[in-house]
Amino acid sequence: HAPRRRSCDDRSVPAVARVEPLVTARAVRGPFDYLLPDGCDVGSVVEIPFGRQRLRGVITELAERSEHRLKAPSAVLDVSLPPELVRLALWMADDVVSTRARCLELLLPPDGVGERIRLWAERAGEAAVDPAADDPDAERYPGVRLTANQRALLDRLPGWTGDDLQALRRLEGRGLVTIEPRGHGRRPDHVALGAAAGAPVLNPDQLLAVQRLEDALRGAGGTPGPGEDRFLLHGVTGSGKTEVYLQAAQRALAMGRTALVLVPEIALTPQTVARFRSRLGETVAVLHSGLSKGERRDEWWRLRRGEARICVGPMSTVFAPVSDLGLVIVDEEHDSAYKQDGDPRYDARRVAAWRARENGAVLVVGSATPRPESWNALRRIGLPRRADGGEMPAVRLVDVRGIRTVLQREVHQALTDARKAIVLLNRRGWATWLECADCGHSWECPNCDVSLVLHRGSGVLRCHHCGHVEHPPRQCPACGSVSVGQHGLGTEQLADHLPGHVFRLDADVRDRSGVLQRFQEADHGILVGTQMIAKGHDFPDVELGVVVDADATLRFPDFRSQERTFQLVAQLAGRAGRGGGPSGARASVLVQTRSPEDRALRHAARHDAHGFLVEELERRRQLDYPPFSTLVRVMCEHEDEDRAQAAASVLRERMPEGTLGPVPVFRRQGRFRRQLLLKAAHRGSAVAAVRAAVESVVGTPGARGLVLAVEVDPR
Ligand code: ADP
Ligand code: ZN
Ligand code: ZN
Repeated sequence: HAPRRRSCDDRSVPAVARVEPLVTARAVRGPFDYLLPDGCDVGSVVEIPFGRQRLRGVITELAERSEHRLKAPSAVLDVSLPPELVRLALWMADDVVSTRARCLELLLPPDGVGERIRLWAERAGEAAVDPAADDPDAERYPGVRLTANQRALLDRLPGWTGDDLQALRRLEGRGLVTIEPRGHGRRPDHVALGAAAGAPVLNPDQLLAVQRLEDALRGAGGTPGPGEDRFLLHGVTGSGKTEVYLQAAQRALAMGRTALVLVPEIALTPQTVARFRSRLGETVAVLHSGLSKGERRDEWWRLRRGEARICVGPMSTVFAPVSDLGLVIVDEEHDSAYKQDGDPRYDARRVAAWRARENGAVLVVGSATPRPESWNALRRIGLPRRADGGEMPAVRLVDVRGIRTVLQREVHQALTDARKAIVLLNRRGWATWLECADCGHSWECPNCDVSLVLHRGSGVLRCHHCGHVEHPPRQCPACGSVSVGQHGLGTEQLADHLPGHVFRLDADVRDRSGVLQRFQEADHGILVGTQMIAKGHDFPDVELGVVVDADATLRFPDFRSQERTFQLVAQLAGRAGRGGGPSGARASVLVQTRSPEDRALRHAARHDAHGFLVEELERRRQLDYPPFSTLVRVMCEHEDEDRAQAAASVLRERMPEGTLGPVPVFRRQGRFRRQLLLKAAHRGSAVAAVRAAVESVVGTPGARGLVLAVEVDPR
């Protein structure tokens, strides 16, 4: 039910712009009606008088008339969103129970809407000269004489792309527009072109995969059946998925279409970006937080203007302002980095699917360890062999208590022999908790109900939830004892125990891509770290992989703990034994666990994703877990415990039947937390009901100081 657009001969009808102000408070909810400035359309960014303020906003709809007496926007900014992205923001706000303003802001250029070109609209009210009746410009530009060129230029301004700067300057001289500078031509250095690399000859599996994607691309844009152009590229680790993405992207480009390529985290996947840049050149844009704002803004504009036709990068890449979208790729689709933590809590994979559907584009998600959701819903393309012909490593589950024992008995020798090894322990820091040996006192965060972690390198106790730091204790504040026990081995300490040249990689390390690069270039050494060491890297010559305390992930109280454990172990195994070729020594992987019979571990040890997924899906079906249902979690947080509880109880009454809770969850960042959880058969109606419940509570007197975090499909 799109509003009817004005037609040229229809100019007496007052045209109305529905504007959503870019204000994040839930209380200010648009759209609000304004006069539609000439040349503006859905997606134009305007500045509007709003009460006593001036706010920026995005035109989200056009309408013919309004019940209100309308004001004109005070300015039109030289930025506009493609209408598709406006629709995306509106859909997303509903889909993840956020506000339209927050979602729109995600889609605007990274630097916000920096440059402003003030249009005549603002000055119209000040015009002293009455419009001459025979002046064709009278209506729009009262009292101003304009050449046809100038008029055309003014009409085009909101979408101005930088051509007629001289003419624009003359208009500026007459006070008709104001030009504020925006930098141009900054290209991020660290995404500079690599050495132009040739494409390898595809193996038969890859060839088949590219062929199927190309067929889908040809059919795309037509009206294929549901799910016919959504694919899961299930390729074992090292099977050459990136090569398939590259060639599929080339095909899309050749058909005049654009492509988005999502990777989980840019610092950990510089190789993927580099490969796209070196093969496809300047048509590749990169958007990520490692770039300066100016660089990101320039990349955004290159995409918006169509100068760049492929965007590679982390989750925000899914919002790239490309038109003619033909292909959307999500690499390592199992990675939880695709889920946004803060509001809006969107899932980039879901947004990717939306954009693909909306544009008739082909969706490809790839992984060696796909999510059950994707396995169930998408058409599968398999790459069952490693591209270099190498064997998968032999995985051994080692049931030994005590990490030190494992290291000594099983690993030390192997580590000394192996040229390169990777050791995974999913806890960072030196010791994860301290306890007084005499009285049992433990060191906890004052803001959160969690233990403080000892970081020896930086010499502090640190809270991993709020960042609180304090000095490590010399003695116990409760009993004065000086025997303070350090418990819970972390990566920092583990790195210290290992022999030889050790490289550490975890969230405490600043230069992560540097560590990865140095490890890759070294010919000996051990890479130690949290799960980020298992993510998609292509290191040749790693002969040994070790997972220390796999049970930590397994014990995590969540229905996805099996899925996570399987992914972790299988992905780590995927880093070992690459580049050896059929003749190389077979790599091995050791997994320390007290539960060697566990289903996830057994399947991971056999590299059997298929077997694991079939069983996991069956279990989820029986227990009615996603993908057979949708979970919606609402966290009620307040500094006052009683008020957190009270708000949760009120909300619980308004939530759909079957909502579980309120359940207390550990205090975090000074706020007490109560959780409500809904498991629903129908996603759309469940989300709508939760949204209504949340909005009925927000803005009431009881909601002061209350933080409500809604998460659909919590990870
Ligand atoms: P994946 O993403 O599936 O783990 P990659 O795309 O990183 O695998 O490929 C693994 C390695 O195999 C890379 O070094 C890549 O250059 C190489 N490779 C990929 N395809 C081929 C091929 N057809 N012939 C030779 N080497 C290939
Ligand atoms: Zn004590
Ligand atoms: Zn804390």
